[in-house]
Parts: sequence; C-alpha cells; structure tokens
Amino acid sequence: MVADKLRPFGTTIFSEMTRLAIEHQAINLSQGFPDFEGPSSIVDAAVEALRAGHNQYARSMGAPTLVEAIAQQRRELYDLRYDPMTEVVVFSGATEGLMSSMLGLLNPGDEVVLFEPVYDSYPACIAMAGAVPRYVTLRFPDFELDLDALEAAFSDRTKLIVLNTPHNPTGKVFTPKELQAIAELCERHDVIALTDEVYEHLFYDDAAHLPLAAIGDMQKRTLSLSSTGKTYSFTGWKVGWGTGPVELVRAAQAAHQFVTFATATPLQHAVATAIRENGPQFFAQLRAEYTERRDHMLETIRSMGLEPTVPRGSYFVLADFSNVFEGDDIAFAKSLVTEYGVAAIPPSGFYPANPDAGRRLIRFAFCKKMETLAAAREALRAFDASRPTPN
Ligand code: PMP
Ligand code: GLN
Repeated sequence: MVADKLRPFGTTIFSEMTRLAIEHQAINLSQGFPDFEGPSSIVDAAVEALRAGHNQYARSMGAPTLVEAIAQQRRELYDLRYDPMTEVVVFSGATEGLMSSMLGLLNPGDEVVLFEPVYDSYPACIAMAGAVPRYVTLRFPDFELDLDALEAAFSDRTKLIVLNTPHNPTGKVFTPKELQAIAELCERHDVIALTDEVYEHLFYDDAAHLPLAAIGDMQKRTLSLSSTGKTYSFTGWKVGWGTGPVELVRAAQAAHQFVTFATATPLQHAVATAIRENGPQFFAQLRAEYTERRDHMLETIRSMGLEPTVPRGSYFVLADFSNVFEGDDIAFAKSLVTEYGVAAIPPSGFYPANPDAGRRLIRFAFCKKMETLAAAREALRAFDASRPTPN
C-alpha cells in the first residue's frame, strides 16, 4: 500500500536498531538520544506552562515568546538579525523543519545538492517533494570536501543545497574554507541553502560552529534550522525552528501550516525559558561533558581494534572495522547487538550514491551516561577481533 515514492525508504535504521536493542536487551548506542535527563529547570518550565493554561493551538509560526527568544539568541550568538514575527518559524522538530522547508521550496524536477553520508530524512523529503538529489561524497577517514566534486554537482537546475554542520554521522565540522566554497557556488548558481544545525552547540577541541548564514551575503539565501533535542537533551519534545529571510520563511510556512499547523504550545513556552536561561556558560558545560563522553567512547572503540575518526562535532563516532571483521556493516551491527549486547548503526544506507563507502563503517552514539558508556566498554571487552566472521 505504501506509495511508490516512499517504498524505497522502508523503516528507518534508527527505529530498526532501537527495536533490536530492546529485543536483545542491549546497550543502545544506535539511535541518537540521551539516556539522561535535561535540566530540571526546563522540565519545571514545561509543567508551569501546562498549569498556566498554555494549552490551545499556538500561533502557527510559533508562540511570540519563543520566536522572540530565538531571534535574540541568534543575534547574541552569531550577530545574525531576524525579525521574530516574519523571519522565524517554529517547527515540530528539525525533522518537520526539513520536510516543510523542502515541500515549501522545491518544485518537481528541481535538483538538490547533498553530502553523503546523508541524514536519512533528507532523501525521503526530496522524494516527497518530487525533486532530484545530487550527492557529493565525503569519505572516511577525514571526510574532507572535494571542491571539484562539489562544483560538478551544481547545474542550472539546482535549487537548493542542504548542509548539515556539525555533521551526523561523521562528526565533521565544515571548515570556514569549505563554507566559503559552498557560499560562492550558491551565489554563482543562485541557489538557496538549507542548513541543519541541530548540533550547533556540540563541537570539540579547536572546532567552532560557524553558521553558513554568517558568511558574506549568505543570510539572504539561507534558511537555517535548529532544534532543542540535542542542546537541552529533550529529543522527545520535538521543538525546532527555522530562521531566514522573509521569502524563505514564508515558503516553509506555506507547507508548515498544513503539515502540523503549530507545535505543542506548552513546550514552546518551556523552550523559550530554556533559551533565555541557558546561554554560553551552559553550552560550554555541555561541550565539556560531551568531550569526556567522546574520549571514553574513542578509547573503547580503539580497544576493540577499530579505527575511529575523531569527531570534532555532534555526538557520533564513525569507525572502520575492516581490521577486525570480514562482513559488511549490517552484519557487523547484527553481531554487536546479538553477541555482545551493544547496538550501533550500520551507515551504508546513509550513502545512497556509493553504499560501498559506508560498508566497512559503524556509528556509535555517545550521548549516554558515563555509566552506560562504561557498561558498553565492559560488554565489548569480550569482543574477539580474531574470531572468524560470516560473509
Ligand atoms: N537532523 C539531524 C542531522 C539529526 O541528527 C536529527 C536528529 N537527531 C534531526 C535533524 C532531527 O531533529 P529533531 O529531533 O529536532 O526533529
Ligand atoms: N537523529 C537521530 C540519530 O541520528 C535519530 C532520530 C530519529 O530516530 N529519527 O540517531
């Protein structure tokens, strides 16, 4: 019964691996959600909003208190100015933001430039909009952007480029030079940029997040998306937003008003409080905690004999398992969950144009309590790299 355009996408690998993790009572390092609570003051703000009667439909583009908080935060963090009532739109998570933005901006046959490995919802959104993906491949181990390949992906049919930085699943943070190259191509081909910045506060070592909208004149052709899930560790709240010039926000809103109309009102009030009360100090603390988790995860991966890429952003690590396992990524993920009780994500599906580029890689999520990461290390201590493997 599933429509032709959606049939190729099946069930998301995140649902699939979390299901297997539950079935095998495994430690779930697959789907990217924290197993700890976000700040209790933010939960209190949600309870207060519910009690205060913020329980009917919100303004479709977002509760005034939240769009104002978002605009103020963008100004303070990045010196980017948006009119809260016309240049900010609240979505039910970045997932809805991606869908509504693409439905609102793309015509059938328009081309969209994307990077692979790709977050799985982008190709599905493009298919639902009837548009055509053009992939630029980022390869293990450094996932450096091939500027010639990028240039070759643009054509006179290109309408949009989708950029995710910090990047899931590679942990790559696009460099200023790469962002500059993307900006120049967008200008030259009159292309719109849709940026997915849900990991904007999660970067490590000497990395920093630079929004594409802050480069040159890019603000006028960039619709930037972000979300509360990763920053405040409430992935289940599904409150996200887009910021951009009026005409891009209006296009996304044209779809959003029919996709969800509005996002959960009490949670919008709570997120407005969260944004107002948790500034740079909170983000620095978040990064310090995630750096510790990342380093623990890297040590576990290395002790298994795998070769990880050190992520400079996001809360994922990609590692090459060629040294220790003969089969493909799906077989390796199955072996980990069934034999060692640890679930991870096989990423070849994130490489739609070159699945081979992901077949010897595995993704671990480290957005977990230190005790969970320690339990995973303990479980994986039994990992036997010399064991004969299937395939
Ligand atoms: N984009 C990327 C790159 C993600 O990793 C995720 C989810 N974790 C999302 C979008 C979805 O964000 P949300 O939960 O706000 O819908
Ligand atoms: N973004 C999360 C991840 O990459 C998954 C979110 C989802 O399941 N849709 O693991």
